[in-house]
Amino acid sequence: MQPSEIRDALLAPQADALFAEARTLRDSVFGREVFQRGVVEFTNHCRKNCHYCGLRNANTALQRFRLDADAILQAARTAVELGMGTVVLQSGEEETIAIRPIGYLIGQIKQMGAISITLSLGDHDEDAYRYWHDCGADRYLLKMETFNPELHARLRPGQSVRERLNRVEMLCRIGYETGSGIITGLPGMTTDILAEDLRLLSGLPLDMIAVGPFIPHPQTPLKEAAPGLMEESLRATALLRLMNPAANIPATSALDALSAHGREQGLNAGANVVMPSVTPEPVRAGYNIYPGKNAAPEPVRLIVGRLQQRLRDAGYEPSSSRGESPVRKTGC
Ligand code: SAM
Ligand code: SF4
Repeated sequence: MQPSEIRDALLAPQADALFAEARTLRDSVFGREVFQRGVVEFTNHCRKNCHYCGLRNANTALQRFRLDADAILQAARTAVELGMGTVVLQSGEEETIAIRPIGYLIGQIKQMGAISITLSLGDHDEDAYRYWHDCGADRYLLKMETFNPELHARLRPGQSVRERLNRVEMLCRIGYETGSGIITGLPGMTTDILAEDLRLLSGLPLDMIAVGPFIPHPQTPLKEAAPGLMEESLRATALLRLMNPAANIPATSALDALSAHGREQGLNAGANVVMPSVTPEPVRAGYNIYPGKNAAPEPVRLIVGRLQQRLRDAGYEPSSSRGESPVRKTGC
């Protein structure tokens, strides 16, 4: 799609036809199956200071946690028992990343069955990425957040679009099924910037593309900013589906933070994946990247069971398959 077409679709008075077209395309590639990825958020320590994120280093109000290997493996086992075909290991960026212990966890989780492993561990060097891939990690998710150089540098101090993009391309070359994405409605993100972000994302050889709305966190510099708009994020999801028919696109949990049935709306805009947290109850609320995230003080099995029922009620079938993208893009 041309940038002007993307922009027009983001601004059009009505989006029903856009959502219907994206849904039909999603159905033709994935049917009504929704891939489930259980996310183990194993530490909320972070060396970085992204302006939007509640885990930022400068947030001294946050109680930090770090799960040990047994607790991480137990959480992964719970995900598998709940029918997830993918386990995602996600974290803030530790000062010193435990490269080998993470490799050990990957090996242990791979023995739990026909499971794919996604890593979402942020910015690390090529040796670490290669080592984890050699240990059996299948996928890596590293969101661009925005491709706009000024906005990116302002909201992610000390970091640049070029650096992040280099890493996304590196992950792809190493052989990961590579994921990236953006946050919609970041303070300072205009419709033109969003349209350009969607175009650039769609030009990358990505197997997964994540887009979710910005939710302001009270202990960040963006605490007074307005949240991203639900409608804009849904339109962005639908446009990504149209430009990337075979990509795995999650209905992000941030949509649920804006609306009780946010994830269903994401699916109805063309998404085909859900990524519930399976982080154990005593610490899960501490993975507070934005208000509402992991907020329900209930056991994981109950929360995931409720989400699966929501999917069925909305006419979808929670799938236990590993859920690769049916067509891998080439070109990295
Ligand atoms: N630390 C790793 C990284 O930054 O890539 C992975 C974990 S980080 C918490 C995962 C994602 O959370 C980020 O890529 C960002 O898109 C999202 N995120 C953080 N703060 C957010 C906010 N306030 N609203 C919406 N998404 C947010
Ligand atoms: Fe750390 Fe990731 Fe949050 Fe940035 S988005 S502060 S790197 S956890």
